[in-house]
Amino acid sequence: MTKRLIFLGPPGAGKGTQAKILSQKEEIPHISTGEILRAAKEQGTPLGQQAKSYMERGELVPDRLMLDLIRERLSRPDAHEGWILDGFPRNVEQASFLEALLKDLGQSADAAINLDVPDHVILERLLERGRDDDTAETVRRRLEVYREQTAPVIDFYRDRGLHLVNGDRPPETITADLQALLNHHAS
Ligand code: ADP
Repeated sequence: MTKRLIFLGPPGAGKGTQAKILSQKEEIPHISTGEILRAAKEQGTPLGQQAKSYMERGELVPDRLMLDLIRERLSRPDAHEGWILDGFPRNVEQASFLEALLKDLGQSADAAINLDVPDHVILERLLERGRDDDTAETVRRRLEVYREQTAPVIDFYRDRGLHLVNGDRPPETITADLQALLNHHAS
């Protein structure tokens, strides 16, 4: 049974935390575009050099870079049996691209999961997290970008298997819900 899941939700919703846990339990790759970009930035690859200034401002990295990245990643052998996408798609263009790409690869997503968390909780979490792109100003901008560009992606998935999950609960409770949802899909 393949499992292909798309995690949606604002920055700080806990997508990364949940995706990591589920990826271990289900033995499918966790594909986090944020992690891939941060690694590229640290290694100083051409992608990293081009992405750096956008990330530091809390802006989206241009689609021309992201689309190549995701095509390459989803084409790798370990992605044939399933995946959890975390941080992609982040705008409607990326969502349309992903749909076409999956069709090319003979795949389709099983579910899109929106982890929902109120704004004041997100702000607290992001400022506490203290990653080097988590300054007050960048965090504010990332939330604006989320509202303007990423929130519309939720509508894109409404008729394509969208699940809403309350992310403002203890992590174990959320994991249990997500697993129940996955098992439901598998049956
Ligand atoms: P967060 O969940 O806190 O927003 P991520 O680790 O998902 O953090 O992303 C960090 C940064 O990487 C984003 O602010 C953005 O600049 C860039 N990024 C990640 N994924 C994408 C994407 N799909 N499209 C464009 N930029 C992206």
